[in-house]
Amino acid sequence: MEHARIHKPAPTQPPPHLLDYEATVAQFSWVQAAALLDGLPGGAGLNMAYEAVDRHVKHGRGHRTAIRWLGKNGERQSLSYTELARASNQFANALEGLGVLPGERVFVLMGRLPELYVAVLGALKARCVVSPLFSAFGPEPIVTRAEMGDARVLVTTPELYQRKVRDLRERLPGLKHVIVVGAVPADEPGVHPWGALVSAASTRYTMAPTDPESTALLHFTSGTTGRPKGVEHAHAAVLAHAVTGRYALDLHDGDVFWCTADPGWVTGTSYGILAPLVCGVTNVVVEAEFDAQTWYGVLQSERVTVWYTAPTAIRMMMKLGADALKGVDLSALRFMASVGEPLNPEAVVWGLEAFGLPFHDNWWQTETGGIMVSNYAAMDIKPGSMGKPLPGITAAVVRRLADGCLELIDAPDVDGELALKTPWPSMMRAYLHEDERYRKCFVDGWYLTGDLAHRDADGYYWFVGRADDVIKSSGHLIGPFEVESALMEHPAVAEAGVIGLPDPMAGEVVKAFVALKPGYEAGEPLRRELLGHARKRLGAAVAPKQIDFRDNLPKTRSGKIMRRLLKARELGLPEGDLSTLESDEKKGGST
Ligand code: ATP
Ligand code: MG
Repeated sequence: MEHARIHKPAPTQPPPHLLDYEATVAQFSWVQAAALLDGLPGGAGLNMAYEAVDRHVKHGRGHRTAIRWLGKNGERQSLSYTELARASNQFANALEGLGVLPGERVFVLMGRLPELYVAVLGALKARCVVSPLFSAFGPEPIVTRAEMGDARVLVTTPELYQRKVRDLRERLPGLKHVIVVGAVPADEPGVHPWGALVSAASTRYTMAPTDPESTALLHFTSGTTGRPKGVEHAHAAVLAHAVTGRYALDLHDGDVFWCTADPGWVTGTSYGILAPLVCGVTNVVVEAEFDAQTWYGVLQSERVTVWYTAPTAIRMMMKLGADALKGVDLSALRFMASVGEPLNPEAVVWGLEAFGLPFHDNWWQTETGGIMVSNYAAMDIKPGSMGKPLPGITAAVVRRLADGCLELIDAPDVDGELALKTPWPSMMRAYLHEDERYRKCFVDGWYLTGDLAHRDADGYYWFVGRADDVIKSSGHLIGPFEVESALMEHPAVAEAGVIGLPDPMAGEVVKAFVALKPGYEAGEPLRRELLGHARKRLGAAVAPKQIDFRDNLPKTRSGKIMRRLLKARELGLPEGDLSTLESDEKKGGST
């Protein structure tokens, strides 16, 4: 199969960290890469927060800006690495003062406020397990997760506490302390004000030895395919954050980096907190939700150099058109990346037209803890491909055999399950309370991702679909992504979600749900045109047989199209766990 390519010009300034992919892969070892980190003084192990913050102070870089926070009402706050080290020390001391023990779980539930970042880093220093929750969740998903994770501490705001936790608090008998950023509600035992608690604590904190294998983070998956899973990561994962920050996001000294994801999702923690700080750059935090004009304003005013966002947001910007970017000064922007869902080739090409730069797609999951497959700064892009495995990661396309073993598929362009050779530093260490499910992910030394993909003859990986979403029609295996991308090429289409419907003859037939760009009218003529366009692009066997128009497609709050819900609704089946469903199905998710 031949694909279009976006050829990279000669290396720009600064030259990419990863200049020669093959050579880097051949030389790479995780043991050597550990030199990117310091480790705790005196050989006392490895702690994420020390690597992200304190060591920069130790190396004389404490004056650099660590976090540049933009409040939703126009406020601004900057924290240098020194200030962040002190503030997180205070929070670590405050936790210890409350008697919170290493290994106990600290849940963080708030919008993207500076205190969120301080709390996460401080709790990591105190060797607590941090679980950030998405603040727009309703009470039930919040309390269910806190219950599953046996929360000992909750860091939140008075409003969120009152609205979402207080009435259900009896379900959390282990929750000893609630720390609120703001005024403490009256008559609430065990509720402490952040301000008094933290300001009374010392800015000095001596970190205790931290076993790199001890649990640092508990993250819940997006719930795209079913009930969210609690994924545990160890402090050792910080090495993957350091390596991917350099290779996949190409972070250099002096960069101004902006990851648009909320820390309630793994991207917002691994890349909205840890990787940029570990790499010592300035991390821009934007409190406001998505709005194209606001975002363009941030890119311009902050002179963002590296930008990490998601397909849903990109598709919403595409819907508005490149005209909205006229007059926006993007001269500082050097590198753009995307994650979370397949990035349609149209979106990569649009990036080039609108921003003068392509979006670099990369693939990973909550379970992998960091970017695993990526389009690198110096490498040609094949739009629609998620790129090549990270140096240090061996990927393969495999088939599960009936005897429980794996067959590795060597031939190019053959679909199978994407598998990663174990171990790597940010590999999940457990599914919370689901040992059996965890064990089933690993076969013959490989981690099976549940996603289908193929590799082409040049070694690029192509996402086909989630194993659960793949459609089997008249003997063909059809990935929804391919069909959705073909529909997206039509100028009327803003978004598409594709499912398989049971069919007595074909097994399944392809059905597409389409949301239109402004100015296009849903109706029979357009439906026929889209069916014809898809047939021409994909052939009759793969093209949808039915197309329905929708104002919006159901998405998770992290912005992923919920195909399982489109299907359940279509077939009148139970809708399953909807805790992560974007409530009004209108927004583009928080990413
Ligand atoms: P759940 O596991 O609860 O169903 P989820 O898989 O959506 O939810 P995440 O871990 O947030 O939860 O998302 C990882 C998944 O997102 C991947 O397994 C893949 O299906 C999809 N994904 C992420 N990045 C990409 C990408 N660049 N291209 C295609 N798919 C992607
Ligand atoms: Mg998943």
